[in-house]
Amino acid sequence: MPDLTHQRCHNHMLREAVARCPQCGRFFCRECITEHEDKALCAACLRKLVGPPAKKSAGYQKLLQLGHFMLGILILYVIFYYVAGILLALPSDFHEGTLWQAGWWTRP
Ligand SMILES: [Zn+2]
Ligand SMILES: [Zn+2]
Repeated sequence: MPDLTHQRCHNHMLREAVARCPQCGRFFCRECITEHEDKALCAACLRKLVGPPAKKSAGYQKLLQLGHFMLGILILYVIFYYVAGILLALPSDFHEGTLWQAGWWTRP
């Protein structure tokens, strides 16, 4: 077994290795090694072991983006609903006013 003090971290060339990853056999510093089920693994092997979280988070982000998109649509819908309501209310009020002035009940 090679002496750890002469080994450098696989990620940090200036740092001394404190442990060797049993999975890939590379040396890592205290910061790069992670404990997983009583085993000291490097971050890359831990990622491989627990599955691809990048894919999961990407799917979650897509869902989040879809949620934001739907929320944006909803906000736009509500805004357009109220604007349309105001726009529809204005001419109808005007129309009713003219009807009132020229109504059959106002004529002699
Ligand atoms: Zn490893
Ligand atoms: Zn390191």
